[in-house]
Amino acid sequence: MDTGLQLYNTLTRKKEIFEPLNAPHVGMYVCGPTVYSDVHLGNCRTFISFDLIFRYLTYSGYKVRYVRNITDAGHLEGDRDEGDDKFAKRAKLEQLEPMEIVQKYTLGFHDVLRMFNTLPPSIEPTATGHIIEQIEMIKEIISNGYAYEANGTVYFDVEKYSKEYNYTILTNRNMEDMLANTRELGGQDEKRGRLDFALWIKAKPETIMRWASPWGEGFPGWHIECSAMSAKYLGEEFDIHGGGMDLAATHHTNEIAQSEACSHKQPAKYWMHTNMLTVNGTRMSKTLGNGFLPEQLFKGEHVLLEKGFSPMTVKFFMLQAHYRSTLDFSNEALDASEKGFKRLMNAISLMDKLSPSESSDFEIGPIMDNCLKAMNDDFNSPVVIAELFEAVRIINTVYDGKGTISAIELDKLKKLMKDFVSDIFGLKAEDTSNLELNSVLDMVIELRKTAKENKDYATSDKIRLGLQSMGIQLKDSKEGTTWNKA
Ligand code: AMP
Ligand code: ZN
Repeated sequence: MDTGLQLYNTLTRKKEIFEPLNAPHVGMYVCGPTVYSDVHLGNCRTFISFDLIFRYLTYSGYKVRYVRNITDAGHLEGDRDEGDDKFAKRAKLEQLEPMEIVQKYTLGFHDVLRMFNTLPPSIEPTATGHIIEQIEMIKEIISNGYAYEANGTVYFDVEKYSKEYNYTILTNRNMEDMLANTRELGGQDEKRGRLDFALWIKAKPETIMRWASPWGEGFPGWHIECSAMSAKYLGEEFDIHGGGMDLAATHHTNEIAQSEACSHKQPAKYWMHTNMLTVNGTRMSKTLGNGFLPEQLFKGEHVLLEKGFSPMTVKFFMLQAHYRSTLDFSNEALDASEKGFKRLMNAISLMDKLSPSESSDFEIGPIMDNCLKAMNDDFNSPVVIAELFEAVRIINTVYDGKGTISAIELDKLKKLMKDFVSDIFGLKAEDTSNLELNSVLDMVIELRKTAKENKDYATSDKIRLGLQSMGIQLKDSKEGTTWNKA
């Protein structure tokens, strides 16, 4: 099955013709969120990019099994198997059970992705639901000689592995440099080598999330869950493994090592990495605290935001960049995307009102071909968008009576818009009245505040009662005034 698709493979650092192991079936694994807090807009960019890839593979005729995990255990704050457990820490802070934290942020993650109109994966396995599989895999790695136990913790032996395999295959780094950049082992260290990482971590007395294992009570390291779950649902060798670029150097490098140490096979044929969403050039991240939540963006409630932007505007903004390019957040860029998205949706609604003529001034075939060519060239969505605006120009010209389109070409135009805008990009018309209402009410509330400050209570009451009669209730508190619809 040759669909003409080429994709960039991080493993080989070049674009390759996509040849799945077992066409038309495709196995795709994408590292999902760590659900100890809300996902920020950067995380969403990665999941929206893989949604585009999933949608396009499906559109091209592949039967995709898309596995995206939920990390709900085993994530420590430090990168080197140290620091507090993120879930336990958050649970203490919010006075909840760790699994309440997991449930709360998993639901929040699903809500956000639904707002962006992404498709659910075929399977969404959790780390806590696959402890047995992870233990079995660690046992296999130990019996193959690539891991060792030290005082209830199991470490992966990077030195032993790297003698037979290429540990830096994904990033092409130099082992000497990596060693030089890693802290030297101290007297109390249980690790044998500086680059060794934990597969299983011994529970401390205060550890809440703990499981019995052959090495005593503990919990799995972060990387092992993805190796165990991808092998379980997609096999020891599958087609695509993806995630954000920040995962390549450690998480994915260690995943490859674990899988090879277990099955002696490179788990994925194609490794795909999405680039980062940045703010003023710096990567948006939970740890740096510069990540705004999608909710804040929709409502415009963040110091960096001049106003709110709808989910489809934000998605359109993301699709205007190629998934392997960085994308910098700015109000101006979002403003431009808002205008562009409105123009596109407006043209689509006008398209249904066009009447066909006998002759046609326009041919849609070349636009369709260019869109397919762009998507087949490593999912080049910005080029597709430029082509779609050519279609917008045609719609507006015919609507203004300045050109004609035949019934056949009009059908092609409708198919173009349905295929690329709805099916492949997952964009849809949205009701923005609530967003507009938000901005109008912000202004009215500000006017009422000024009236009150000027002791003009007649005006402030008039505003409150007027809104009340429209079913909008104002609520004053120390923090300010909020509103809700009765
Ligand atoms: P996490 O919940 O931190 O494990 O991240 C979930 C996914 O989001 C991973 O694939 C990360 O690589 C990705 N990610 C994190 N920060 C960003 C960012 N600023 N831009 C794009 N993707 C990101
Ligand atoms: Zn992973």
